[in-house]
Amino acid sequence: MERELRRKLRLLPKAELHVHLEGSLDPALLLELARRHDCAFGVATLADARRLYSFHDFPGFLQAIIGACRHLVTPDDYALAVRELTRRLAAQGIVYAEVFVSIGVLHWRKVEVAPYWEAIESARRQAQEQRGVRLAWIADCVRQFGSEAAQRVLDECIRLMSNYSLVGIGIGGDEVKGSAEWFIEVFRRARAAGLGLTAHAGETCGAASVWTAARDLAVHRIGHGLRAVEDHNLLQYLAEHDICLDVCQISNRKTGVWNGITPHSVVDFDKWRIKYSLASDDPGIFGSSLLKELYAFPLDWPARHRALRQGFLASFLPDSEKAAYLAAFDAAWRQLQLPNP
Ligand SMILES: [Zn+2]
Repeated sequence: MERELRRKLRLLPKAELHVHLEGSLDPALLLELARRHDCAFGVATLADARRLYSFHDFPGFLQAIIGACRHLVTPDDYALAVRELTRRLAAQGIVYAEVFVSIGVLHWRKVEVAPYWEAIESARRQAQEQRGVRLAWIADCVRQFGSEAAQRVLDECIRLMSNYSLVGIGIGGDEVKGSAEWFIEVFRRARAAGLGLTAHAGETCGAASVWTAARDLAVHRIGHGLRAVEDHNLLQYLAEHDICLDVCQISNRKTGVWNGITPHSVVDFDKWRIKYSLASDDPGIFGSSLLKELYAFPLDWPARHRALRQGFLASFLPDSEKAAYLAAFDAAWRQLQLPNP
């Protein structure tokens, strides 16, 4: 894409709805964290960090994200990750982001979680003041930890949501080892509490997994949903029920769930008029970004325009705030004279 169009896309105010705090650590930041902790987790050089992040399949990716998580030890480590992520988002013109934080991992470590929340909230407030990027948290439950662990995450969300910028709950981790069915009761309670609902699905498992997330968990958004294309009834269901997918093509290529040769599922999502936004997923691990998602793939301008607006529309913000962001987005699109959608 020509330089001038890239510049304009950077200036456009944008939202990103699928980015993991733990996956935002790039090799340099991972090394900085490793040095804080005497290189106790197998990373002592930049080459080690890069090696951890060089994988070719989904199990390899899971090892990489587990390795990244290990380096987030103290509340201050999490605060540093928030500051660095915000700096990168601001550099891309992202004004609003919903960021997954894997609370399930902190519970699993049996640490007191309150100081971690305080640290990320304080870093979030500071980042918003200094860089004008607003972050909101989605508490991520790890599928393979099971439903009891997810209930604990939800209990904590319900306790904290009135004081913290916590807008949703999700399930991530290993889709093969943790069926979405386990979480029906968690999601029913989360919905009643007013939390936004999202699930990673259809990434390593087939259409049945997406059906469960869409119909039984009644999520508002689905992370990836690639394999929904195996079932046309499901594609129709997603379109009719206004379920928005988070499309992360660089992530899909790097984890090997998409071969990069056959057309990406997003082609079918367009054909079936399924709503989607674009996102980087784990930008530090994949070297991805929302801007790269926009540049690197042959989406036409109407599709880019729809996906970027969807970033605000499918967010867990109140309607009045979505409208304000969209008005600013539409005005900037016109002012920058981007191609007609
Ligand atoms: Zn993800």
